[in-house]
Amino acid sequence: MTDNKRTEIAELGEFGLINHLTANLKSENDSTVYGVGDDAAVLDYKEKEILVTTDMLMEGVHFDLTYVPMKHLGYKVAIVNISDIYAMNGTPKQMTVSIALSKRFSVQDLEEFYAGLELACKKHNVDLIGGDTTSSLTGLAISITCLGECEKGKAVYRKNAGQNDLICVTGNLGAAYMGLQMLEREKAVFNSTEQDGNTPFAPDFSGKEYLLERQLKPEARQDIIAQLKEAGVQPTSMIDISDGLSSELMHLCKQSGTGCSIFQERIPIDYQTALAAEEFNMDVYTCALNGGEDYELLFTVPLTDHDKIIKMKDVKLIGHMTRPELGLHLITKSGQEIELKAQGWQI
Ligand code: ADP
Ligand code: MG
Repeated sequence: MTDNKRTEIAELGEFGLINHLTANLKSENDSTVYGVGDDAAVLDYKEKEILVTTDMLMEGVHFDLTYVPMKHLGYKVAIVNISDIYAMNGTPKQMTVSIALSKRFSVQDLEEFYAGLELACKKHNVDLIGGDTTSSLTGLAISITCLGECEKGKAVYRKNAGQNDLICVTGNLGAAYMGLQMLEREKAVFNSTEQDGNTPFAPDFSGKEYLLERQLKPEARQDIIAQLKEAGVQPTSMIDISDGLSSELMHLCKQSGTGCSIFQERIPIDYQTALAAEEFNMDVYTCALNGGEDYELLFTVPLTDHDKIIKMKDVKLIGHMTRPELGLHLITKSGQEIELKAQGWQI
């Protein structure tokens, strides 16, 4: 930061703070009839179906402010919720933001947090329509609710995959997890070395930028939802990858009543992820399957959509659903079948 000015929240008070943070918000969507400023916001979705998703995040449990800047935090918490709306095949439209703050936080910290939130909202055309502000004795708690819309009958659930459907995944997996490993490693170095207070701690992350970006600034795959629509593909099931491919596959299979087979060699992994896994002496496929926070989309389509899917940009076919009694399997490069577990398996 260029200026080190610190304004205590108490100087503005609760109402002053809310006003300060929300005064310049503008609503862009027709469905937003009224945003911040009354006892409740007013929305009008006409004939559309409404999607609602909410997340609660606690400092020290879900995020670590020793290496996450407030602006990135704001961006990420918004994106994580927006991603859930896309995972239903919807369009995000509004967001509410509730925060509990301790005295440690200044007005400037919150300005940064809101700058990140607003950046994500602007990118996805989401209106910030309200929230709640309260105090906390220890650290920061954030609760975000995102609302979105969907044409009637077009929402994609986790539960409707067919037994022979193709399994598709977007982007690449494991990078955000490796980014987290890098940050945690540097934090441990920082904590174990003596700080004289004069030399800034500047770890060298060169060549690892992509991994840090995937951890600190994830993106939600609006482009994929648009591509699917354009290609006339309606997935039979879909979920966003927040907990790891393995865990999300289990949700789809359990709720759809299927088994699955995925192929190790088809799991998309970025070069930097592979290099970092080697450096950490970890199996890169374990990271890709169990790492999480990728915010990519995992979905299934009927066999008849095969030709459309293989033409799609940044979508990879990784396997197929099976009869439920066959279970969930990863087929390794050598043809070995390994049962998929939510966590901690090794090849
Ligand atoms: P109430 O007493 O009804 O809870 P508040 O004074 O908390 O009302 O909120 C006043 C207005 O400010 C409401 O529109 C609310 O949604 C909005 N608001 C409060 N906190 C936040 C926040 N952190 N971010 C965005 N809007 C907020
Ligand atoms: Mg309130």
